[in-house]
Amino acid sequence: MIKKIILYPGSFCPPTIGHSDLVERAALHYDKVIWAIGVNPVKNYLFTVEERLDMMQHIVDDARKDGLDNIIIESFEGAAIRYAESIGAEFILRGLRNTSDLQFELEMATANRGMCKNIETVCMFAKPHFATLSSSLVRDITFLGEKIDQYVHPYVAKKLQEKVKKTWMI
Ligand code: ADP
Repeated sequence: MIKKIILYPGSFCPPTIGHSDLVERAALHYDKVIWAIGVNPVKNYLFTVEERLDMMQHIVDDARKDGLDNIIIESFEGAAIRYAESIGAEFILRGLRNTSDLQFELEMATANRGMCKNIETVCMFAKPHFATLSSSLVRDITFLGEKIDQYVHPYVAKKLQEKVKKTWMI
């Protein structure tokens, strides 16, 4: 039987509950969800790839306790569409929060279709509660010394606090 594999690529620096909500909803409809960090060597990130994978793994471990055992964590370099091809994923998952996301995702999906015709981009709308949530907002709020518990998994909140402390000590 051919398995329906969907790749969810992004930076996830850090992963928010908006991201994990999308992953978990996709896991209900696809055989396998590959939740993967796209590594861009020229971009500066707050968390290393290893740190982000560790946070994502904690989220996935909790999802498994809730019966979702088809989410896999990965990282890759280069174009997401090429990575999708290499792992046999026929779908790429992206999230839409607003019209800016829509514009960006439309351009990206069109470019990806030009590179590979067999892979469909699937966009899922953010739940209204998460529609204004982004990794950059979470980072900014943390560095202002405010609580971010309602936006991220408890383990991610802990890692953010540690990162702030470390940054201020330098
Ligand atoms: P990027 O891929 O642009 O570096 P992210 O890693 O933050 O950005 O996001 C990956 C994908 O998840 C994108 O499609 C983005 O639109 C989507 N996304 C980001 N935050 C949310 C959210 N709160 N709810 C739903 N989707 C989101």
